Amino acid sequence: MASGFRAAQVGPWSTSCDWNLRATQDGETRIPFRYHVRPVQNETYAMKGGFHRFLQLPAELQKHVLALCDSATLFQLMQTSYSTRQEAKKLFWSDPTSRYIVDGQWLQAGGHPRHTNYDLEALAHMHYIEVSFIDYTSNFIKEWREGEYYCYIRKGEEQRAAFWATLRRRFPRVIDVVLNEPNSKRRGQIPPEEPTQLATGSSDVMSISVSQLVWSNDKWYSPETRFLWRRGYDNHSIPTWDLTETSWNPHRIMPPIKTHSGLVGDYQRYDYNDLDLKELGRARDIHAIHATEAYYLHIAQAPCVCPWPACGLQFEQAGEWSTHHLEACLRRDDHEGTVPPPPSASIRTAFLHHDMILAQKRHQLSDEMMRMQAAWGEPDSPERRAVSHQFLKQLRDDPLYAGEVAPEESEIWIRYQRDMDGVGNPPFF
Ligand SMILES: [Zn+2]
Repeated sequence: MASGFRAAQVGPWSTSCDWNLRATQDGETRIPFRYHVRPVQNETYAMKGGFHRFLQLPAELQKHVLALCDSATLFQLMQTSYSTRQEAKKLFWSDPTSRYIVDGQWLQAGGHPRHTNYDLEALAHMHYIEVSFIDYTSNFIKEWREGEYYCYIRKGEEQRAAFWATLRRRFPRVIDVVLNEPNSKRRGQIPPEEPTQLATGSSDVMSISVSQLVWSNDKWYSPETRFLWRRGYDNHSIPTWDLTETSWNPHRIMPPIKTHSGLVGDYQRYDYNDLDLKELGRARDIHAIHATEAYYLHIAQAPCVCPWPACGLQFEQAGEWSTHHLEACLRRDDHEGTVPPPPSASIRTAFLHHDMILAQKRHQLSDEMMRMQAAWGEPDSPERRAVSHQFLKQLRDDPLYAGEVAPEESEIWIRYQRDMDGVGNPPFF
């Protein structure tokens, strides 16, 4: 699992893990919306106790208190009295420290409901977004046929205009957009070309930045950090790009997902859970790497020992082992598979528990696929005809699955048939 993706982030190292985190191929973590808004148990209790008194405060003071609340508390307050709700809602969505990560491939493909798991209503409230062109929220975009992933930013004036029109339609309240370059590069001051070109298609006055992962040294397999360039204008109104951050790592939130319904919803939920499990698996290895570094640094206070039996190398400095591990993984150098947790009984127990949960999720996913395949029935059977009819009818009639092409020609229908016949790519194990 570790092979082929980047799991090295720079410290500080910690043995405590947020098991709800997800991670990308690039080793960047993010949290699903439902965990972002979930309060810690005792905080909920404290808030309920004090809420009655809060409502008796003068309106100005209430506003002041709300401004000090965290996201989870604001989200709770959005379910209360009208005036509190309005104020909490405004503050919740306009929090500049909450960056929603969104799928650029989906926006480039027209932002149709059929191709996404996002709850479209929620997108309309977001102020701060980061557009990733390597981040798939669904497998059902037409260009992705035959397992080929096109991680690129489309060129051409018309395509740029279409991208911004779609972004504006889906995110009418957005005020700050970061466009991510899909490829990483050597350290350097020059902003990536494709996202800066894409930015020229925007006629809005919103804040636009571009970002790119850069290697920490000259080697492509070194740990990466994200650089950020913000758009400004010179005296002649020509855009300038100023490097403002060299380790940009915001609190990333994955947008809330739509309520899946019907046969198409069942299949799309399966696809979503499959992608989600991959992200959980990657985050699990990142936790193992962080826990290992932290264990040797803070608990054992000894050189870090590489846990792979065939390796066993020792590293004196914090962070050296994770760099070695990343390099070995990316160069496919005998460090493949799930990263073992450090030799501490309590940490190992925590990992064992989490690994069991992941295994359970894999079984559930496999059971779900078998259930759908059983319902699909044999070729030319009445079951097959009924399921096909129902699936295509939902694609035609259900606004949650509306797309630009006829249901019969849609990617989701083509993939559905392939998966139900059991000839598609095997699910993730
Ligand atoms: Zn090693």
